[in-house]
Amino acid sequence: MTEAPELEMPLVHALNVSKSFHHNEVLKGIDLDVERGQVVCLLGPSGSGKTTFLRCINQLETIDGGRIWVDGDLMGYADRDGKLYRLKDKQIAAQRREIGMVFQRFNLFPHKTALENVTESPIQVKGESRKAARDRATKLLERVGLADRSAMYPAQLSGGQQQRVAIARALAMQPKLMLFDEPTSALDPELVGEVLSVMRELASDGMTMIVVTHEMAFARDVADTVVFMDGGVVVEAGPPREVISNPQHQRTRTFLARLR
Ligand code: ADP
Repeated sequence: MTEAPELEMPLVHALNVSKSFHHNEVLKGIDLDVERGQVVCLLGPSGSGKTTFLRCINQLETIDGGRIWVDGDLMGYADRDGKLYRLKDKQIAAQRREIGMVFQRFNLFPHKTALENVTESPIQVKGESRKAARDRATKLLERVGLADRSAMYPAQLSGGQQQRVAIARALAMQPKLMLFDEPTSALDPELVGEVLSVMRELASDGMTMIVVTHEMAFARDVADTVVFMDGGVVVEAGPPREVISNPQHQRTRTFLARLR
């Protein structure tokens, strides 16, 4: 007997994804597979479509063509007899809850403490009890090294601490997948390391992650796969020792040379 196809599917399976803003075709047929427990780093020059692709995966943007599955679920659509039907907003919201996202700007609620930022969604969206949400939030704040900061407000925290709260907040929803959109690029250089080390631990704990980053050391050490995008296409993809250390395409070489 053959297995159901979704059991064989990688956690993220994107096929021929396209997306335009007006006449600007930003994604021109992106394919990407991310296996469970793997870390994929998306690299590429500004404007190459990396953020848009992440936003398509968790449906902050609607794709124009192609398909994206997360854990066997077709994102945004039901596929009935080969025809696609757009899901209702409520169903899309349920799919999005399975995916955590961390932004360049931390987007914490300014009038809530670190702990309240982390408990907000589990209580409001998932209907968890306050006690259960607080217990998990306390553990998560400990995990990101902020056990002693739980009663502080975002304005009382450094950028690196705020970003670690944002990571704890995303984890509180117990996502299957974490998306990071340049999580350290708004930080002062001395604060970058503390956020990357939380992300390294998350990766070694087996979280499936897609990370848009310019941090080459992180990509080299942590990524299972590095994907280099330019002009809305994947130029090359493979293990870091191939794509970063021995790129095959001139566009990748030019990009990497500029970072050095
Ligand atoms: P990257 O993350 O690689 O820097 P982006 O995905 O942010 O690239 O942007 C790719 C292109 O899409 C850019 O030309 C950008 O101006 C355009 N773009 C992104 N978001 C929007 C939007 N909401 N409306 C119109 N154009 C957009």
